[in-house]
Amino acid sequence: MSTASVSTEGLSKSFGGVRAVDDASVAFHDGRINALIGPNGSGKTTFFNCVTGMIKPDAGTVTYRDRDITGLAPHRIARSGIGRSFQLCRVFPRLTVLENVLVAVQPHGLLQRLRGMRNPDDVARARELLSRVGIDHLEHAEARDISYGQQKLLELAGVLMGDPHTIMLDEPAGGVNPALVDRIADLVRELNAEGRTFIIVEHNMELVMGLSDHVVVFDRGRPIAEGTPAVVQDDPLVLEAYLGV
Ligand code: ADP
Repeated sequence: MSTASVSTEGLSKSFGGVRAVDDASVAFHDGRINALIGPNGSGKTTFFNCVTGMIKPDAGTVTYRDRDITGLAPHRIARSGIGRSFQLCRVFPRLTVLENVLVAVQPHGLLQRLRGMRNPDDVARARELLSRVGIDHLEHAEARDISYGQQKLLELAGVLMGDPHTIMLDEPAGGVNPALVDRIADLVRELNAEGRTFIIVEHNMELVMGLSDHVVVFDRGRPIAEGTPAVVQDDPLVLEAYLGV
């Protein structure tokens, strides 16, 4: 039996009258590639935001590897071992690729850059990670000048600077060309083989089904099905949620 990485009990978050996450109790397995899928508006991003401290839930708890992290500030949650990427990739367009990775790890990175101060160990590690994700040849390019897919790889390199045990990716393949989608999938597999857990929100079903060990399906703010990709695909509740039949 595997332990849980991120788990929630009765997690809820409303915006006005909209119950974005509604009494959601769910557990993602440690050491696995987990997927979180569901129709648009089913609460996946809000769930991510509650887990990573970007928004405070109205009710319920978030546990990370046996530790209650409910309502902690995002930097504390990051320090506890959860890294995340964003649906609309977050990079600093006018900073270089290398600077973007350095900024990811240093809270005062921007200031240090302006002062010309850089920790050589951080620079070495940033270069190693850029090589890892395959964009080290672009280290001096400004982030705005590289492709969107490359920006996603850059964001992932920044996430890896924090050496997270669990990585939450919000639509890693969204808007990315197919060759880079394959590269991202390979990276996820490699990083998982090294012991990192993934929780991935993704609309590309081919990718989800080919990549994940465990799939959780959300509808209207809570899980309605979970299991292996094969089991979830055949679940009538899932078809109903997607097709509205
Ligand atoms: P998903 O990621 O599955 O598409 P979201 O978590 O983005 O779903 O949204 C769930 C519901 O909450 C939607 O009805 C959405 O319109 C609403 N919602 C999300 N964020 C906000 C917000 N900041 N203000 C108001 N409504 C929001």
